This record gives sequence, C-alpha cells and structure tokens, in this order.
Amino acid sequence: MMGMEEMQLRPELMRHVRTVDPYVPGEQPQTKVIKLNTNENPYPPAPQVARALQEMDADKLRLYPDPTAEELTGALADYYGVKKNQVFVGVGSDDVLSMCFLTFFNSDKPILFPDVTYSFYKVWAELYRIPYECPRLDVGFRLMKEDYYKENGGIIFPNPNAPTAIYEELDFVEDIVAHNRDVVVIVDEAYVDFAGRSAIALTAKYDNLLVVQTFSKSRSMAGMRIGFCIGHPALIRCLNDVKFSFNSYTMSQVALACGVEAVKAERYFRETVRKIIDTREWAKRELSQLGFEWTDSRTNFLFVRHPEKDAGELFELLKKERIYVRYFGGGRTSQYLRITIGTQEEMGLLFAALKRIIQDR
Ligand SMILES: *Cc1c(COP(=O)(O)O)cnc(C)c1O
Repeated sequence: MMGMEEMQLRPELMRHVRTVDPYVPGEQPQTKVIKLNTNENPYPPAPQVARALQEMDADKLRLYPDPTAEELTGALADYYGVKKNQVFVGVGSDDVLSMCFLTFFNSDKPILFPDVTYSFYKVWAELYRIPYECPRLDVGFRLMKEDYYKENGGIIFPNPNAPTAIYEELDFVEDIVAHNRDVVVIVDEAYVDFAGRSAIALTAKYDNLLVVQTFSKSRSMAGMRIGFCIGHPALIRCLNDVKFSFNSYTMSQVALACGVEAVKAERYFRETVRKIIDTREWAKRELSQLGFEWTDSRTNFLFVRHPEKDAGELFELLKKERIYVRYFGGGRTSQYLRITIGTQEEMGLLFAALKRIIQDR
C-alpha cells in the first residue's frame, strides 16, 4: 500500500488534476497583535448588526435561506438608487468576482488588468484558463487609460487600485468603459467608500459595466463575507444563471439578516468611514516626518516606502514589536509596505515603533 505521508500524486493521476498557484491571504495571527496587514476595519460593525445577531432565532437555521437574497438586494438597491434586478450578492466580493470571471470572461482574446493590482485576478484567470495581459502602471503607479484601448476579452481593475491606494476620477473610468463597449468592464470598488464617487452612477448609461463592492472594509464585516455587484439587469441575470448552476444558497440566513442591518445603519457607516479617513490623513503627515514616501492613498491603507530602509527588514522589525503590516516582496513593489489604517491609538503605537526603528540605527 502507498504510504499516506506521500504528498505527491502519481503522474498518472496528476495529469487529470486542475492545478493553480493559489492566492495567499495575509496572516491571521491567533495571538494579540496590532493587526494592520489585511485591510480590515478597526471599528466594530454597526450596533444594529450586533442586535440582529443577538436576536437571530436559531430555529430559522432549519430552513434554507432565500436563494434570491431578496431582502438584501432590495436594501442595496434602495441605498444605491437602482432596481433590485441590477444587484447581485455573494459570499464576499471574492465570490462575486470569481463568478464574474466565470460568466463574462470567455474570449480567446486576453482580458486586461494592471501589472500591480489585486493578486487574486491572476489566480482566477489561471484557474479558469482565461488568457490575460497586464499593462504596466506608470512610474507613479497610475493606470494609463490608453493601455486599455486595444482589443481584449474583458477588463478588470480596482478603483482605488490595490495595493497602490490610488483613486482615479469617474471620467477616467468612463473613458475605459466607453472605449470597450463590446466587452464587460469590471470595476472593483472594494475601497471606494474611502475615496470618492462610485462608478455605480455610470451603470445606467453603460450595459457593459459591472461595479463590485464589499462589506469587508468600509462596513467592518470581513468575517461575515458579503459582497455585491451592480450593473445592467441583463448582466445580473447572466450572473445569477451561473451562480444557480454552482450553488443556489451562497448567502447564509445570518449574513442576509446582518447585511440588511448594515445597509440601513447609514449614519454609523459614515461616521466610521470619516474616522478612518481622518486617521489616514494624519498618518500621511507622520509618515513624511519619518522620511517615508507614500502614494496619495484614498483607501483604508497606506502604500509606503522608506528611501533608506529595506521594506523586508522593516516588516520583520515591526513584527518583533507585534505590529503586523503587509509586505509583498519581489517585483516592482518589493520596497513597499502596505499598512492598514487602524484606530488612532493603534496608529500612534505604530509610529512610536517606527520612530524607534528608524532613529535607532
Ligand atoms: C479586500 C478586497 C476584495 C475582497 O474582499 P472580500 O472580503 O472578499 O469582499 C476584493 N478586491 C479588492 C481589491 C480587495 O482589496
């Protein structure tokens, strides 16, 4: 009998297996640390969400959830001023994005996304065997819209982009959408609540635009897994057809109930986002005083480098101080750190540690 400890499949078996280099999420340390490494929100979800959780009747869990997630799509439609049939929800925006890749990227021509961007795009392209090309961001890490004028099988980019944190105004987004009327353009707005206007406003005008958002960052609910997208009803119908061919019940009863409450808690949402933006702008000034260079972040994280300190070394030294940030290593971003905006207190501790590290040596 084969040893069970043998971790390689025999080549005869292996040739039938779909293999992929998976996306590597940031660490989730199980001890108490200052956690600025995965762009979670440092503030709790709205009190209304906590109440919905407490009042959740366990008996309800006997039943399957509403497969159409009507209450949640309805709440989102009201909030964004669109029709219910323009909203699709999923288990975090990663689920929504993965369904979008499967549904809309089916061409022999390559899809386009920036060379420096959310690393999951490449993973899905490879998993689903979608050809892709990655136009280079310019030296300031800006997208160049002309790169997206060539023939392609679809386009996806985040706005603001990650991990660069840079936001492009709506006329820039519209230009790309308008130059690509015959393919689907997906704008991943995971951080738009910290930035500016959403491209949702353009979905009334363009049937080839899908805007994806998440409850994980601005709504403090990464652990609940809720994401959604908004677009033309015909696009949403195609997405639903694929989703129902895959798993009819992606959204749990609990996620549906909490999601609705989170959408309704508009005042709390705005206050939380405001606090994070204020801390971010303060943090930029602190960074400058320590000699860091940073992109003009419009997100809940900072993308920084120090001209004299190696990023990998800084990452390790901060970790020793029990402060976790994100370091990507390799490529154009090898000298950068991505630092999530924490509470004002957490950021104070971060800067105290950075001061010790930078001035000590
Ligand atoms: C965080 C993030 C997502 C995914 O978030 P979910 O937790 O799956 O909703 C998608 N795109 C970008 C650019 C992100 O930063």
